[in-house]
Amino acid sequence: MNSVFHIIVRRLSTQQNHYKLVVIGSGCGGLACASKFAKKLPKDDIIIIDKTDIHTYQPGWTLVGAGIKKAEELEKPQAQCIPQNTTWVQSNASQVEPEKNLVQLENGRKITYDYLIVAAGIEINFNRIKGAIDALDNDPQHVVSIYTRKYVTNVYNALNNFRTGHALFTFPATTIKCPGAPQKIMYLAEDLFRKNNVRDKITVTYNTSLPVIFGVKKYAAALMEVVKERNIQLNTRLNLVEVRANSREAIFENLDQPGTMKTFKYDLLHIGAPMQPHEFLAKSTLVDANGYVDVDKETLQHKKFPNVFAIGDCTNIPTSKTAAAVAGSNDILVRNLSNLMFGKSDKVPKYDGYTSCPLIVYGCISKTTSDGEIKASLRILVKALKSFSHIDLIDSVIMCLTRLLSLLSPDYKIHKFNALDCFINTSIRT
Ligand SMILES: Cc1cc2nc3c(=O)[nH]c(=O)nc-3n(C[C@H](O)[C@H](O)[C@H](O)COP(=O)(O)OP(=O)(O)OC[C@H]3O[C@@H](n4cnc5c(N)ncnc54)[C@H](O)[C@@H]3O)c2cc1C
Repeated sequence: MNSVFHIIVRRLSTQQNHYKLVVIGSGCGGLACASKFAKKLPKDDIIIIDKTDIHTYQPGWTLVGAGIKKAEELEKPQAQCIPQNTTWVQSNASQVEPEKNLVQLENGRKITYDYLIVAAGIEINFNRIKGAIDALDNDPQHVVSIYTRKYVTNVYNALNNFRTGHALFTFPATTIKCPGAPQKIMYLAEDLFRKNNVRDKITVTYNTSLPVIFGVKKYAAALMEVVKERNIQLNTRLNLVEVRANSREAIFENLDQPGTMKTFKYDLLHIGAPMQPHEFLAKSTLVDANGYVDVDKETLQHKKFPNVFAIGDCTNIPTSKTAAAVAGSNDILVRNLSNLMFGKSDKVPKYDGYTSCPLIVYGCISKTTSDGEIKASLRILVKALKSFSHIDLIDSVIMCLTRLLSLLSPDYKIHKFNALDCFINTSIRT
């Protein structure tokens, strides 16, 4: 007994509790930054904090909802994603005290740091809609959402089995990651209804809390054409506040007349999930008044604590929360933090807020599209790009590549590159 006690005490006392770099979160932002620092710092200098043991490619969940991908195909054991040369602690952060350079974990462990990267994402909270969890859990043929791993696998069945009635899609009145996704799944559903020859028996409605169909003006204009052409009813300034699964009623608050409710009957309801900052961050001194980590939008360095940086959905950078934004900003974070860490003053470009939430896919790509056909499409796109170097076209090529990657067979060599590298390489080879 005594010797067991001593072994435990010795283990606890030899556990490393100070790291040069602590990374909170091993989603796409945390991993992108940690993997770059793993090449710059000696072993045992970096610790990554995250309880999740499965890494998920969340943008693919829209394709899961449409039956194009299986949820399992978008997952990898986290242990295979954590960069070599780093330590992974499988617990969540429960408290951050930047004044003491301290992170406390749910398991009670305290870790101090020289530098901190916060990349904890954003929390989904269906509890903000009365009755939503009950409906998602108990009526998965009629109430669905692509926004979580737990519910995404119900979506395709519900859409594909839907034959007649009112299909209602919603966009919440909170900050949301990938604000295009609630619309993307609606267009994919509408397409599926056509393929199943039931479109004429179904009415489709999009109720959004926004005053317009989409936050970016030029895309909003194009999308207005799309909803008109596809006979989709658009209602603005409506926020879903309650789901009554028994009577299949969705209750919305009119945001222009607070307190005034409007009831919609539905036969199929897709909920755009409400979101909020993680509580452990919201209660820390790292955040702004809205609960998001308060960083400089061009450098990703914290405004008050210079040894703290943040990336992705947990930040208050004024751009849409997407993996594309992480792809566009992680190198800038790494270079700014490297300057600070190694006392350098290398010139670093400013993050310009690049984000992307692709809504429209070039051509018609499905599970049956062959690698050869995709390659041919890419060649056409690249040729078009060469003759017409317009930023929107470049954007659309990158969007296509992002979408194509998950459709290509796993051994396809394009997977070796990320979307941008892949675009450049394809362009050079043509
Ligand atoms: C349905 C859907 C469709 C989307 N479509 C697109 C798209 O088409 N294009 C696009 O670019 N983006 C899309 N996105 C958004 C994209 O997935 C996110 O913006 C991106 O994952 C953000 O990366 P992140 O690292 O900030 O957060 P995440 O990738 O969410 O990672 C956060 C990590 O932090 C961990 N964590 C949470 N709390 C703690 C804690 N207390 N302590 C430690 N770790 C913690 C989590 O376990 C997670 O691993 C979509 C998302 C969804 C859900």
